[in-house]
Amino acid sequence: MTLRVNRTEPCGPRYTFCRCRPFERHKLSWSGPKSLYTPETNASESTYELVDPGSDPDIRPLVSTLSTTTTSKQLGSQRFSKFSSWKSLTRAIIHLIHIARLFNKTLKNSPCKGWHHCKTGYTVEESDQVSHIIIQAVQEEVYSQEIKCIQKHEQIPKSSPLKNMDPLIDAHCLLRVGGRLHNANLDQREKTPVIIPGKHQVATLLIKHHHEQIYHQGRLFTEGAIRKAGFWIVGGKRKVSNIIHQCITCRRLRAPLTIQKMASLQRIVFRQNLPLRMSGLMCSALGVFLHVEQEGAIHTANDGP
Ligand SMILES: [Zn+2]
Ligand SMILES: [Zn+2]
Repeated sequence: MTLRVNRTEPCGPRYTFCRCRPFERHKLSWSGPKSLYTPETNASESTYELVDPGSDPDIRPLVSTLSTTTTSKQLGSQRFSKFSSWKSLTRAIIHLIHIARLFNKTLKNSPCKGWHHCKTGYTVEESDQVSHIIIQAVQEEVYSQEIKCIQKHEQIPKSSPLKNMDPLIDAHCLLRVGGRLHNANLDQREKTPVIIPGKHQVATLLIKHHHEQIYHQGRLFTEGAIRKAGFWIVGGKRKVSNIIHQCITCRRLRAPLTIQKMASLQRIVFRQNLPLRMSGLMCSALGVFLHVEQEGAIHTANDGP
């Protein structure tokens, strides 16, 4: 079966293009259909009332608007367990602070824009803010009940580990040890150190950091360095001991010395002689045995006489 096409028949309105005229001469190819540039008629503007809209399933009966509010801050301390060192954690948080300040437009005249790896360096204000933000996030999760009690000027529960510390809240909303050192001639952060929960990952990172800062010294020195930096880790003694026990560098440095196995004694040592018959000096490392006989002659033997 073959299809025959009459090429002499002119193109009608049903055909967009045909072979009787070249492509450039078609009006449709340059201007398009008339419906695109003719104004719409006013007939479509007429409105009609709905007939029983309550029973119509296609009409939504109620427009509901939902809003989400969060009661806690977005920075969760469970994310800190992803970091293996205090330096990497602070570096990540300071980067976030830098980006957040850019989006809030608090950094004016700054070349930084949007999400980026900053090459200009961070400001001193951002560096000081890091540890406060990290510890504040941890304390709000672990000691939320104690913080509420202090804010309401109520007694701390007896079951709390902070009961004997007389804790207080400073200007940065950090929980600190109250203690009895207010009249001491010490730095303020040593008198009222920041409380760190001992079982949290941040405590592990802090202990490791200060342990490396003092070149892997013992427990007392590590505790002193942490206290000097202004931190008080709850249950810190046992925690520091555990971390030092697991420290690979400390294990290598404190490993017992190896004891070399001694070689067998020379045969001449076991030869029976009269008392003071001879005396000698044995150098087993060289494998040479020197002995001086009573007559004064000196003999050397590699394998005994
Ligand atoms: Zn930057
Ligand atoms: Zn160590």
